Amino acid sequence: MTASGLLGELADVGRDRTRGGYSRHVFDPAEQELRDWFVEQAGRRGLDVERDGNGNLWAWWGEPGPGAVVTGSHLDSVPGGGAFDGPLGVVSALSAVDLMRARGTSPSVPLAVTVFAEEEGGRFGIPCLGSRLLTGSLDPATAAGLRDADGVTFAEAAQAGGLDPSRLGADPDRLGRIGRFVELHVEQGRGLIDLGSAVAVGSTVVAHGRWRLTFTGQGNHAGATPMDDRRDPMLPAAETVTSVRRIARAHAGTRATVGRLTPTPGGTNVIASAVDVWLDVRGPAARSMVADVEAAARAAAEEEGCGLAVREESWTGEVVFDSALRDEVSALAGGVPALPTGAGHDAAVLAAHVPAAMLYVRNPTGVSHAPEEFAEDSDVDAGAEALATVLEGLCR
Ligand SMILES: [Zn+2]
Repeated sequence: MTASGLLGELADVGRDRTRGGYSRHVFDPAEQELRDWFVEQAGRRGLDVERDGNGNLWAWWGEPGPGAVVTGSHLDSVPGGGAFDGPLGVVSALSAVDLMRARGTSPSVPLAVTVFAEEEGGRFGIPCLGSRLLTGSLDPATAAGLRDADGVTFAEAAQAGGLDPSRLGADPDRLGRIGRFVELHVEQGRGLIDLGSAVAVGSTVVAHGRWRLTFTGQGNHAGATPMDDRRDPMLPAAETVTSVRRIARAHAGTRATVGRLTPTPGGTNVIASAVDVWLDVRGPAARSMVADVEAAARAAAEEEGCGLAVREESWTGEVVFDSALRDEVSALAGGVPALPTGAGHDAAVLAAHVPAAMLYVRNPTGVSHAPEEFAEDSDVDAGAEALATVLEGLCR
């Protein structure tokens, strides 16, 4: 089946009627429905599905074993995200299996289609949670204790999703089966528009991390508390948001965002007792930029008589994809151009352990992590065709 046709089957799952777009978070009903759909689609193709201890799915064409060519992406989304980020890579992988069969190819090494858990960190805060756990780059006890907005821990959510939380963590046997990994993804930028190409291969992923700044003050009554008698953590939080723009501009090549700010308790007539400011920073100078933000935040907190705790939630250094595999994938796909990206991916996490590559599919809006994210059906299907040709070449 075509990738665009498969994607169409998912169009009604997890629509977010409040934010627009889709909200599909790990182990929630929408993401679970997509997982069930994937398992059913894999079964129809005669692929054997395994779920690993970290909630990642593996659908095998051939006996699982070392030297496998593995492709896939994720099914979860950011809150109010687009239809393509994640699912495009999964449906393209399934479609590539169909195309290979239609062309009469069968792989001479094991081939697997994967779905990684919680790539966006949309529910538990840490991106690429499934691949980080698999590779051992995230401590399972830390992962187990992460809480979603309702206070549910990742261990509890995983258990509700059918996992045994005691099995979370590094899985060297499964990781060791991956000979080469290729992830197809919608482009999250304008590179392919400018290049006039439907498909590109990934070159680098910029260093990126997430920090949580927690400002603490005195929760109190909005009407009964005089203005001079307040320790309101919303004030240093707000000053920090504006300082992020100013400080990022002083660090060349840095992109810094506060997209999430959570006051506790969060009432209109309540002075907050605490405010969590989530800071996403990307670029070679990310860490020094965050140090400057922290200094500014601390000064703002002191001025208001508030406390501040800063926690690094995740960090991934710059990733340069394996150059031999990148060149091979580019050549197999017909000499497509190479593009850097500012977006993180499971392929970038895996790249520290196995040769990994990415294929990007043109996004005519240049917008991602928003409902306007888009790809034309013709480009979607061209991407799946390119992936099929790449997999055929790698599985020879
Ligand atoms: Zn993605």
